[in-house]
Amino acid sequence: MEKKTAVLVVDMLNDFVTGALKCDRGLAIVPHLSAFLPAARGQGLPVIYCNDAHLKGIDHELKFWGDHAIAGTKGAEVIPELKPGEGDYVVPKRRYSGFFHTDLDLLLRELGVERVILTGLHAHMCVRHTAADAYQLGYDVLVATDCTDSFTKEDYDYGIKYLHDTYGATCLPWEELLKNI
Ligand code: ZN
Repeated sequence: MEKKTAVLVVDMLNDFVTGALKCDRGLAIVPHLSAFLPAARGQGLPVIYCNDAHLKGIDHELKFWGDHAIAGTKGAEVIPELKPGEGDYVVPKRRYSGFFHTDLDLLLRELGVERVILTGLHAHMCVRHTAADAYQLGYDVLVATDCTDSFTKEDYDYGIKYLHDTYGATCLPWEELLKNI
């Protein structure tokens, strides 16, 4: 039997796309995600948003990046084009990885998921760290290459190569991935 698959949408938040950590390449993947997420839902795949929700003045990461995605602010909301739908899941996080001290692993296990498709920002940072934990916890890792990006093409290329070479991730555009789910 095919393995049950979920889609993880990492940090497609106002602050990451148009706000404090604005990323034009992140804006460019929105049309692909806008097509992929409804198609995935239509195929019965759980869609799980892994969203930065930082505690101002407390979170370690803010010292390095400055304030962004502070819990409860507009910057921490999913961009309007990709608002979570009914039946989607939202997992707040305070570090790069969607798994670190969150209930993502518990949620995936209760959903019976064994394989995750990673999307969102940034391919070489939060997506990469989420992929690392997914791999180490025993999930198969797939990456929708047209639904993730980084600040620069170099960072994106590096991220995808790392995911492929280190975690054996299948890295393909979303339409190709969905055909084989
Ligand atoms: Zn952050």
